[in-house]
Amino acid sequence: MIIQENINIESFTTFKVPAFCKYFVKVNTVEELNEALDFCDEKKISLLVLGGGSNVLFTKKFNGLVVQLNLKGLKINEESHQHIIISAMAGEYWHSFVKYCVNQNYGGLENLSLIPGNVGTSPVQNIGAYGVEMKDTFNSLLALNISTRKIESFSNNQCEFGYRDSIFKNIAKNKYIILEVRFKLTTKNHILNYSYGAIKEELNKHKIVEPTIKDISKAIVNIRRSKLPDPMVLGNAGSFFKNPTIPLYKFKNIQKIYSEIPHYILSHNTVKIPAAWLIEKVGWKGKKVGNVGVHEKQALVLVNYGGGTGEEIYQLSEQIIRDVNKLFDILLEREVNIII
Ligand SMILES: Cc1cc2nc3c(=O)[nH]c(=O)nc-3n(C[C@H](O)[C@H](O)[C@H](O)COP(=O)(O)OP(=O)(O)OC[C@H]3O[C@@H](n4cnc5c(N)ncnc54)[C@H](O)[C@@H]3O)c2cc1C
Repeated sequence: MIIQENINIESFTTFKVPAFCKYFVKVNTVEELNEALDFCDEKKISLLVLGGGSNVLFTKKFNGLVVQLNLKGLKINEESHQHIIISAMAGEYWHSFVKYCVNQNYGGLENLSLIPGNVGTSPVQNIGAYGVEMKDTFNSLLALNISTRKIESFSNNQCEFGYRDSIFKNIAKNKYIILEVRFKLTTKNHILNYSYGAIKEELNKHKIVEPTIKDISKAIVNIRRSKLPDPMVLGNAGSFFKNPTIPLYKFKNIQKIYSEIPHYILSHNTVKIPAAWLIEKVGWKGKKVGNVGVHEKQALVLVNYGGGTGEEIYQLSEQIIRDVNKLFDILLEREVNIII
């Protein structure tokens, strides 16, 4: 295990902005992870765990140790008549894991195809796309408690999953390192979810009437490739903001002025609004400020056109939050983890 000093880890993040840290180490085993924690204790510095770097924005130098988790491996834990419990180590690349499951005809993860990042990070914000969230197939996880150094198990309930949220973004933030995640997937009688218009359209295009999980995965890969900027070409971290949930009375007031406002009723008194619509309405879609900007096709995605800094992207997000708040009295929340 080699701990490097004062390095730029820009290439390990998808925003591709300068990202300096005091120390950096790639760990391949739990023993090495413990050594890295010893190092932090000795130096009295903080630790930042990095997966695929697709949901972080470095705004200034991180003065602690960045640990890139490279724990690898898949294991079948249990097999029953219709289900399988499969575990993947934290450092497995998410889409490779999804592809493996789809190819084995294990159902449940196909709608989450092509989401960047690692398996170990998937519970942190309960990744979701196309009507499915990770929590729907999540069984349990193992995490290292940073202060006691004990490995603890978390059930679905204990993770307190919510919309792009979990206990690991709240009271357990910076207290645990997720090592392994277990999923309960179907081996037959798959419950397919292709109610989203875009998925149906894509399947129709290929004249697929009774899709398999492979068909759905392929359709989603095609849709995502056509809609979202590829971080290898244009630095970004996917959706920068969460879709806000607002009280019904506030929604009704906005609807009086903007009758076309897209929305999704969550309960008798709460409504979810697409943040992309709000951002477009305040005029930010496709706008460029220096080397950074708002993507021309997807207003939720902030992009680095090359040469941009984390601080520039952060300031852009501040302006967007301010403008949306001024016009709609809605405070947008960032989905991306800001490293300050
Ligand atoms: C083009 C694009 C499209 C995207 N589309 C989606 C989408 O459809 N749905 C969606 O939900 N997200 C989406 N995202 C966001 C991103 O892919 C997910 O949030 C993903 O889970 C991040 O994984 P990562 O390994 O890259 O995390 P990182 O960016 O490496 O880390 C994110 C946070 O988790 C912490 N962390 C990382 N690993 C661990 C661990 N093992 N234990 C504890 N904490 C840890 C980090 O410290 C950091 O705070 C997209 C991103 C991009 C670039």
